[in-house]
Amino acid sequence: MDSINILGAGVSGLSAAINFAKQGYNVDVFEKRSDCGKRFLGDLEGLENWSSEKNVLEELYKMNIKTNFDYTPFKKLSVSDGKEKIDINLKKPMFYLVKRGPAEKSLDQGLKNQALDLGVNIHFNSKEKEKNMDIISTGPTGKKYFIVARGIRFETCSDDIALLLLNNEASANGAYSYLLVSKGYGCICSVNVYITGKEANKYFKKTYELITNLVDIDIKNQKNVGGIGCFLIKPNLKRNGKLYTGEAAGLQDLLWGFGMRYAMISGYLATKSVIENKNYKKLIKKEIGDRLKTSVVNRYLTDRYYQYIHKYIFDIVRDDTGNWMEMLYKRFNPTLYSRVFYPYAKIKVSQRLKSCHKNKEST
Ligand SMILES: Cc1cc2nc3c(=O)[nH]c(=O)nc-3n(C[C@H](O)[C@H](O)[C@H](O)COP(=O)(O)OP(=O)(O)OC[C@H]3O[C@@H](n4cnc5c(N)ncnc54)[C@H](O)[C@@H]3O)c2cc1C
Repeated sequence: MDSINILGAGVSGLSAAINFAKQGYNVDVFEKRSDCGKRFLGDLEGLENWSSEKNVLEELYKMNIKTNFDYTPFKKLSVSDGKEKIDINLKKPMFYLVKRGPAEKSLDQGLKNQALDLGVNIHFNSKEKEKNMDIISTGPTGKKYFIVARGIRFETCSDDIALLLLNNEASANGAYSYLLVSKGYGCICSVNVYITGKEANKYFKKTYELITNLVDIDIKNQKNVGGIGCFLIKPNLKRNGKLYTGEAAGLQDLLWGFGMRYAMISGYLATKSVIENKNYKKLIKKEIGDRLKTSVVNRYLTDRYYQYIHKYIFDIVRDDTGNWMEMLYKRFNPTLYSRVFYPYAKIKVSQRLKSCHKNKEST
């Protein structure tokens, strides 16, 4: 029987493990933490449903990933600039809210159980090295991160809500903050780009203040959540004969950091590449290459016009709430303009990433 070793039992590593096991491989996954999802401390994350015409859950199903985890479809979104709040009703779910972490019914535990049911061996508290592995799925590295989120999770009696806060004092460099509540469980977070974790605390403080002024919400048993995210302009998909998946490869939406979908797609495609002897880079390029490039252009435009970007998005919402999903789809997919602009945007964002590393190293 063929064997495969995977480093990291996150969403991309488990997506690969499930698919290898389905094809009869003997699969070993080595995870440095004591359980799946431990890096996530129980926050809520959105499985985005706007960057493709395919429904994300159907897409997962086609990649042999079952929905044995809890998820809440959100067809309503509130958007605020910190003063005004606009409610939008959407025709289809904008995202499916899932829990991350080691708790029962989280996405991480759902994928873990699917892998175990297929006979995958998961070795926790492992110190295995990359050199002994076939697939590297270790998520973002601690050294080179660009996205930093700070927030809290809590219990609540409040109704389900998804509130997007677009305010430059609440999130750095044109990023965003949010309140998410589903089934008595909530999160308030500030997402920031190009700053350090220490700097992110002040943005979270402002996020908390603005959100609790905008929404009447009870917060009980709160705990801190947060983390980092990595993206690369040119994903690192193959090195020394090993395939990289998810954020270890730098696969991430450069605009807003919605990386779960790409992570699971890359795990699936890594498997396909090995089993069908196909070129992994070509498979990734075909499936998500255009969206990745578009997100570089989106990142550049946000970097360049970060003072105005929140107002710009908020004005779109105010003027035309009915077309929000169509607008997002267009922003996340290539246009003639984004294709022409991509080479320039790539250079500018690369320069920004390099200077961001230098700044972080000197702080
Ligand atoms: C606070 C926060 C909020 C987010 N919100 C969203 C959201 O709403 N929507 C969205 O789509 N994305 C979101 N993301 C991003 C998303 O979580 C990631 O893009 C996605 O989890 C990446 O999957 P992955 O498989 O690459 O890595 P992970 O899921 O992080 O898995 C990596 C695994 O590898 C393990 N590991 C690391 N190093 C080693 C090693 N040396 N040996 C063994 N194991 C190792 C880790 O412990 C971890 O279990 C968010 C991220 C953060 C931090």
